[in-house]
Amino acid sequence: MIPSTFEYFAPAGLDEALALLSEHGDNAKILAGGHSLIPAMRLRLAQPGVLIDIKGLRSQLSYIKEEGGRIKLGAMTNYYTIETSDLLKQKAPILPEAASVIGDVQVRNWGTIGGSTVHADPSSDLPAVLLALDASVTLKSSKGERVVALSDFFVSILTTSIEPGEILTEISFPTPAGKKSSYKKLANKASHYSVVGAAAIIGVDGNGVCTSAAIGFSGLAAIPMRSAVVENALVGKKLDDATIEAACSGSATDVDALSDLHGSHEYRRAMADVFAKRAIKAALAS
Ligand SMILES: Cc1cc2nc3c(=O)[nH]c(=O)nc-3n(C[C@H](O)[C@H](O)[C@H](O)COP(=O)(O)OP(=O)(O)OC[C@H]3O[C@@H](n4cnc5c(N)ncnc54)[C@H](O)[C@@H]3O)c2cc1C
Repeated sequence: MIPSTFEYFAPAGLDEALALLSEHGDNAKILAGGHSLIPAMRLRLAQPGVLIDIKGLRSQLSYIKEEGGRIKLGAMTNYYTIETSDLLKQKAPILPEAASVIGDVQVRNWGTIGGSTVHADPSSDLPAVLLALDASVTLKSSKGERVVALSDFFVSILTTSIEPGEILTEISFPTPAGKKSSYKKLANKASHYSVVGAAAIIGVDGNGVCTSAAIGFSGLAAIPMRSAVVENALVGKKLDDATIEAACSGSATDVDALSDLHGSHEYRRAMADVFAKRAIKAALAS
C-alpha cells in the first residue's frame, strides 16, 4: 500500500503545469482530487515518476458559467460545487442530482469533474450524464488546444483519447433549455459507485409527445454509452407507461455488458431496463 517513488511538482498556474507536462511526457501524471489516482498508486497499478499536482490551479480551473448558449465547467470543479450550484440547479439539474449520489461527502469535496472524465472508470456517474448532455472537452497542451466531443473521448476501460502533454481544462454542453431530466442508479452499497445507472434528458411538447431523448448509461459497458435503441423508441411518441415500458424492455440486449463481482452481464442488462425506466419516469415528473 505504499506508492513507488515519484517527483512532486505543485505548479501555480496552467502555463507552468503545461511546461512540466511537456518536459516529463509519458512519465508524468496530473493529480487533481486524487481520489482515483492515489488509490491506484498505493496499489502500484499506477507508477508515475512525476506527479503534477494542479490544486494550485483551482482559481483558474474551478468555475461554472453559462456563455453563448453553453454551460461551461472548469476541470477542477469538485462534485460539492456542482451539487450546490444554483446555475446548474436551474439550467441543468441532472448534474447536481447525479453529483449528490457520488460516494460520500469527502469524495464529493475532493473529486473533480475533470478527474472523473479523464479517469474514465465505467462505474463513474458524471461521464454518462455528460454524454447525455452532448458535452465536449477542451484539452490544452503547450502546443495549443483542441475540443473533442465526449462521444469520441472514451476509448476503452480507463482509457481516453487524451494525449501525453495535454490537460483537460473545461467541459461544456449546450444549455438543455426546457428539457426534463433525471439520473437514477443502482449503487454499490459500499462505495456508491454505479453498478448500472441511467441518465434521461427528455424534450416533450405541449401534447406530451417526446421531441428529443438522450439516454446515457453508466456501469453497463466498458465505456459510458448512449442508448440509440431507447432514444429512437421514445421520440415522436406520447410518453405513457406502456410506451416507456416497451422502449426500455431489452434495451441492452446487444450491449457487450460488463461482468464482475458486482453483477453478471445478464444482471447488468436487466438493470439497464429497470433504471432507464426509472430515470425516464422521474424526468417526466420533474
Ligand atoms: C471511496 C470512494 C468512493 C467513490 N464513489 C464514487 C461514486 O459513487 N461515483 C463516482 O462517479 N465516482 C466515485 N469515486 C471516484 C471519484 O469520483 C474520483 O474522485 C474521480 O473518479 C477522479 O477524480 P479526481 O479529481 O479525484 O482525479 P484524480 O484521482 O486526481 O485523477 C484521476 C485521473 O485523471 C487524471 N486527471 C485528473 N484531472 C485531470 C485533468 N484536468 N487533465 C488531465 N488529466 C487529469 C489523473 O492524472 C489520473 O489519471 C469514488 C472514489 C472513492 C475513493
